Amino acid sequence: MAMIHKGVWAQEDLLFLDSERMDLRLRRLASAGVTHLFPCVHRPASGRGVNFLSDLTDVNPDYPAGDPMRELIRRAQDHGIQTHPWFCLFKPGAGDGVFRKYPDSHAVFRGHSPYPEWDRREMKDGRCTDWVCALQPQVQRHLLELLGEFAERYRPSGLHLDYVRTGSVCSCGYCTEEMARFGIDLDPETYDPLNAWWWTRWRVDRLTGFVRDVRALTRRLGLALSAAVKCFWPRQIPTGAQDWVSWAGEGLLDDVIPMIYSDSDEFVRQTIALHRTFPDLNAGRCQYWAGLKKCDSVGAITADQLRRQIALADELGAGGVAVFRENALTDEDVKVLKESL
Ligand SMILES: [Zn+2]
Repeated sequence: MAMIHKGVWAQEDLLFLDSERMDLRLRRLASAGVTHLFPCVHRPASGRGVNFLSDLTDVNPDYPAGDPMRELIRRAQDHGIQTHPWFCLFKPGAGDGVFRKYPDSHAVFRGHSPYPEWDRREMKDGRCTDWVCALQPQVQRHLLELLGEFAERYRPSGLHLDYVRTGSVCSCGYCTEEMARFGIDLDPETYDPLNAWWWTRWRVDRLTGFVRDVRALTRRLGLALSAAVKCFWPRQIPTGAQDWVSWAGEGLLDDVIPMIYSDSDEFVRQTIALHRTFPDLNAGRCQYWAGLKKCDSVGAITADQLRRQIALADELGAGGVAVFRENALTDEDVKVLKESL
């Protein structure tokens, strides 16, 4: 299958530009053949609210007058680029409005994860400060309403989900009560790890149910749905409850983008090759993309590496590549994107 999509994730600085400079940046992306733009609705690190006009949650006080999200969508469209706003769902950041609206929505990580280092999150009074419990009905309802509000108000080409995972293994009040109904005790002192399978199954079902609800929303509104997911599958299942391969198999997403961020071309090659062996990902119900980094928290790759990694994704049959992140792209990278595919 020929690669047909090129996407970039963009941080909020793109929204905070004046019209002329915003247009220049979009023109640059269009010249690179970019088809999909994933602009960040809010950064988990900021916790300052969303960058769009919402009646349901805090709007970032720095969000400029004139509603630049609307302008960005319109201008991108003028350049032939689809906009799929990028929601960092279950890691809204400390101080986000959801924590005031639902004070018991904090995730609680108490060492149940098979990767205990993941439990060393930002904690205060035994609760995680920047992750909500992804499984609570009130949290899922709030985020579903927020996605619906955005979709109806701005009518983008699609919605792009990120942090559709639980962070680590949550044992908040809700999760504890629900598991008690199955006779499973989550007290770290008395917890029996033999119950992990049942607990994991329940967690995966709760999260998949949420994705199903979002899918129903986007179907109703005629929008595409995509997600950025952790590339290690099934390792994400006992931790993040993120069974994205099943989501793809069930047709819950139009596009799935595993984040294969690496300085190692060989890692990228092996990971994509492995993904291509999963029947659910290749059943034709969901487009498989390779999510590549230009620059992440670890560092940047060179333009030559980006070229090689895009070529690998193409050779291995990915239907698209998405690059993190727009504001790190050099002129050389733009050239690479333009000449690729
Ligand atoms: Zn919970």
